[in-house]
Amino acid sequence: MGKQIRILVTGAGGFIGHHLVNRLKDEGHWVRGVDLKVPDYEPSRADEFEILDLRRYDGCLQATRGQIEQVYNFAADMGGIGYITGSHAEIARNNILINTHMLEAARLNDIARFLFSSSACVYPGYKQKNTDIHPLREEDAYPADPEPGYGWEKLFTEELCRYYERDYRLDTRIVRFHNVYGPLGTYEGGKEKAPAAISRKVALARDGDEIEIWGDGKQTRSFMYVDDCVEGVLRLMTSTYHEPLNLGMSTMISVDGLVDLVMAIAGKRLIKRYDLTKPQGVRGRNSDNSRLSQILGWEPSISPEVGLEVTYRWIESEIRKTDRARGVSVRPPDQAHRSSVSCL
Ligand code: NAD
Repeated sequence: MGKQIRILVTGAGGFIGHHLVNRLKDEGHWVRGVDLKVPDYEPSRADEFEILDLRRYDGCLQATRGQIEQVYNFAADMGGIGYITGSHAEIARNNILINTHMLEAARLNDIARFLFSSSACVYPGYKQKNTDIHPLREEDAYPADPEPGYGWEKLFTEELCRYYERDYRLDTRIVRFHNVYGPLGTYEGGKEKAPAAISRKVALARDGDEIEIWGDGKQTRSFMYVDDCVEGVLRLMTSTYHEPLNLGMSTMISVDGLVDLVMAIAGKRLIKRYDLTKPQGVRGRNSDNSRLSQILGWEPSISPEVGLEVTYRWIESEIRKTDRARGVSVRPPDQAHRSSVSCL
């Protein structure tokens, strides 16, 4: 173990924040988690867990008090493509409030280092019109044409981090995540993203059933397993790099490919029914990891075959648990569930 430090993780009740808290505790650090809610699937190991609304400035001041050295700012109003295209004003407003207040509170409470979780949604639509696009390099974000609402807010907060760095010497890190998935993430209710939604649908279906796919299945993405995400974030935090950095897998897979992989893991043969009326996000997206490899001397490597096996088994066991608790023996596929193919 290295030196123990005092760390704040916002969004610690959410997917990536919860995994990060576990890793930081494994490494022996003192951790405060903050969120609107506790984690959904297991208790947090944070030394302190506070329920605070970080849209409020007083909440951000409280979260950053008491000699915190590092902040991982993961709190955000977000979900899959269906969710983030459904309410641009609310999502942009909530996230602007969280991020502007968190930066100012971090400055006033003398935080030594602040990491902002940005997104591949900052990349312009005009560079993502084909399924076989060039992987996106960090400089491709400009001229700007990000995802409305959510993507614009992320791009603006990247700029705000730069201003705080330049004007106030707040030491910032900016990471652009590309589609993170894994166990202990939302898999139902409308905020889930493609790997979780597909795993849930496959788990609920019986062999030979139909499952609904949003779009024509040809849209492409890269998907990063959460352990790689946490490793990359820790490496970035200890680096000296201040500019936005991609953090994603650099291998692209189509949504059809993703479904085929999950079906193979589940040992089920299902019929895909494409719904072209549903939101699909950009046509193709992939991460160029040249700079990531150069700066961190590392890049994500956990294959979808390995990561999805763990994720699928976890979602399947959660569904069984829920069904047992409800006394349900057989559940019809796709019943009242929404799927999404995330742009995130
Ligand atoms: P998540 O939704 O699981 O976690 C976000 C957490 O923020 C939630 O637990 C939510 O309750 C909390 N939150 C929302 N509003 C809040 C408020 N007002 N005050 C306090 N807490 C609040 O999402 P995640 O997948 O863990 O994402 C973490 C970060 O990474 C987010 O900033 C997200 O935008 C970014 N990101 C994630 C992905 C991905 O694929 N998961 C991709 C790109 C970017």
